[in-house]
Amino acid sequence: MAGILFIISAPSGSGKSTLVNQLRSLVSGLEFSVSWTTRGPRGSEQDSREYHFTTREHFEQMIRNGEFLEYADVFGNYYGTALRTLREAFAAGRDLLLDIDVQGASQVRAKMPDAVSIFLMPPSPEVLATRLRNRSRAEGSLQEEDIERRLAKARQEIENYREYGYILVNDVLDRAVEEMAAIVAAERIRRNGDAGGNGADRERVLRIADSCRQANSEARVRPVLRAFGVPDPGPNR
Ligand code: 5GP
Repeated sequence: MAGILFIISAPSGSGKSTLVNQLRSLVSGLEFSVSWTTRGPRGSEQDSREYHFTTREHFEQMIRNGEFLEYADVFGNYYGTALRTLREAFAAGRDLLLDIDVQGASQVRAKMPDAVSIFLMPPSPEVLATRLRNRSRAEGSLQEEDIERRLAKARQEIENYREYGYILVNDVLDRAVEEMAAIVAAERIRRNGDAGGNGADRERVLRIADSCRQANSEARVRPVLRAFGVPDPGPNR
C-alpha cells in the first residue's frame, strides 16, 4: 500500500523543529525527509542528518536531472526534496513527513493531491520575534534586519494558510505535538483502516484531528491573523 505523504510548513521560528523532534519519539513508521540545501550548516547541524548540504552548482545539476519532487529559493538559498527520498520511504512501507516552505508545499500539492498538509502558526508576531531573537543569540549572531525580514515573510506565509488541510497554533507546545500526532493517526485510520489502539483511542484522535481541520479552526486562527495584520477572509467558501 502506498505510504502517506505529510507536509508541514511554518514561518521560520514557529517552533517547528521542536515539534517535529517531539513527534519523532511519539509516532512510529513515519520517516522525516532530509532535504537538500545550499545554505551552510548552523550550530550543531550535521551533513545528512538535518540536511544534505551541497553547492549551488550541484543543486542546479540535480534540478536539470529532474531529481527533485519540489524545490524553492528560501532566503536566497535553494532547498529541495529529492524524489528518491519519497520512493525509498514508500518502498520501505513508511509514511514520509516533509518540512518545507509554502512554495514547496504548493508544488507538492499540485503533483500529489493526496498529500496531507499542515500549517503551524506562531501565536503572535511578538512570540515569533522573541523566538527568532533567542535563536539568533544562541547562534551568536543577532541581526535585527534579518529578524524584520523573517517577520515580514511570516506574515506572507500566514496569508496562505487556507491552502493547507490542517492548521495548528503553537501556543502550547505539548498541545501542538498531541494534535500533530492525532492528525497522523487519524489519516492512517482513514486511509489504511489502521486500527492501532482501542475504539476510544480512535475516536479521540479522530476528534482532535477534526478540530484542527482548516474549516474547523477559524476561532483559533482569527486572533493570529489579527495580530499579524493579515486580513481575515471571512467564512470558508
Ligand atoms: P532553515 O534554513 O531555517 O532550516 O529553513 C528555512 C525554510 O526552508 C523553512 O521554512 C523550511 O521549512 C524550508 N525548507 C527546508 N527544507 C525544504 C525543502 O526541501 N523544500 C522547501 N521548499 N523548503 C524547505
